Amino acid sequence: MIQFELFQQKRKRLESKFSNVESFSLFTFSEKESIEETLTKFSTLTNEKISKKIQSIISNGNNNIYHFTLSNDKIVFIYKVGERKKLHSDTFRRAATNLIREINKLKIGNTLILPVELSDEEINCYFKTHEYYLQTYLEGFKLGDYKYDEYLSKNEKTQVVTMVYYPEVSDEKLLDVFNFTEVLMKYVYFARDLQNKPSNELTPKRFTEIVKGQASKNKSVKVKILDFNEIKRLKMGGLTAVGKGSDNPPYFLILEYNGNPKSKDINVLIGKGITFDSGGISLKPASGMWEMKGDMSGAAAVVSTLLAASELKLKTNLVALAPLAENMPSGKSMKPGDIIRTASGKSIEIDNTDAEGRLILADAIEYAKRYNPKIVVDLATLTGACVVALGQYAAGLFTRSDELAEMLTKAGNVTSERVWRLPLWDDYHALIKSNFADVKNVGGRWAGAITAACFLEKFVDESYKWAHLDIAGPAFQEDNIPYMSKTMTGYGVRLLIEFLKNSF
Ligand SMILES: [Zn+2]
Repeated sequence: MIQFELFQQKRKRLESKFSNVESFSLFTFSEKESIEETLTKFSTLTNEKISKKIQSIISNGNNNIYHFTLSNDKIVFIYKVGERKKLHSDTFRRAATNLIREINKLKIGNTLILPVELSDEEINCYFKTHEYYLQTYLEGFKLGDYKYDEYLSKNEKTQVVTMVYYPEVSDEKLLDVFNFTEVLMKYVYFARDLQNKPSNELTPKRFTEIVKGQASKNKSVKVKILDFNEIKRLKMGGLTAVGKGSDNPPYFLILEYNGNPKSKDINVLIGKGITFDSGGISLKPASGMWEMKGDMSGAAAVVSTLLAASELKLKTNLVALAPLAENMPSGKSMKPGDIIRTASGKSIEIDNTDAEGRLILADAIEYAKRYNPKIVVDLATLTGACVVALGQYAAGLFTRSDELAEMLTKAGNVTSERVWRLPLWDDYHALIKSNFADVKNVGGRWAGAITAACFLEKFVDESYKWAHLDIAGPAFQEDNIPYMSKTMTGYGVRLLIEFLKNSF
């Protein structure tokens, strides 16, 4: 566990405050001058000299962590983050993740962070503000400290207190950054926990219970849960068709947060909530199927975002919709060739039962209309095709609105939960034509991510701005970004909070 604590010392000499600092985390660029500047700054501040003898170098790709012990047993880490010209918005988030893992290994109880000094241009370009720059370190520590150990009999809890020495930001503002990051990361953890929970434990019903339990701690969030009877009564044919094949019935979860009562503008977030996707009758191959417990990542992201927004008291009116179902093969499952009708009244020919996410989203998009929304954004682990196109480094973004595309792209760049726009041209709609129904649920071999987006667009109204994010890549664990390794990622929460912060 990480706890942020104020280091109340803005004077030029820190020595008198050292007694309770166990370690120092220095960050620096890999150029020789930068390293020397950092060491000089450290010596001036602390009146300590770092011996020439390096205890160990922890190598991490292009980055190196140098590890020293001072004569008074305090530990110093010097983290070389690479060349200055290669700086980007995620540099320190990633570095902090690697460092906290070393700190945990060495069982160090607290550390004082000395961030790299950046120019105003660098701050502006990559972080916008000094506060956000600091936030990236704190996020990195939290992201790197995350463990999914709910089912381990022996789960070791370590506690690290982190303090920051950064006189450019006042204590008051630093406390704001601490508080903001604390809440934000609490809900990134909440999303990750939901994603990582196995599907035998996280059925659609259990998902609603967990979210309701969390929401009940915050009076400004309203929760509505529609059960299978209600879903059928509302003629949600997509959610019914997918959910009826499983012994665990589908649910439809609605969260509302009215953070700006003076405004009539409502933003609706929709998340795909397939708690397990076997593919249904169009069964998936066995290899890697376990990851499909995370096919509810969109739902986890949108409910976590709404809960975070309410706790952060963001001035926005938000609705989160999560259609929840398990896609299983059984005697009651939908079959290829079936024709169903969604709440919109439009008919769909099922060509492949593994393209189920779009069916439940179609019903949610229809439900969103009753809020007369200004913006609708849906997040879904929708297609493998999107991962083929972009890898795990970005979500596919689909929208007709250049303004919405720009806002989401900017939020993606600063949070490093990146999005990349793909086309949504009318031509692609020809690929999902059906001979027997209004639309078919899959296209042919090509452009699978785009035809999935075109399918959703069939159910969208022109009265609001709509964007679809295919998060099948970045939602799942990967090895290339340190804080995304070993567990599901919670992708979307930091992105959407940043997006919402800038959209009112
Ligand atoms: Zn599927």
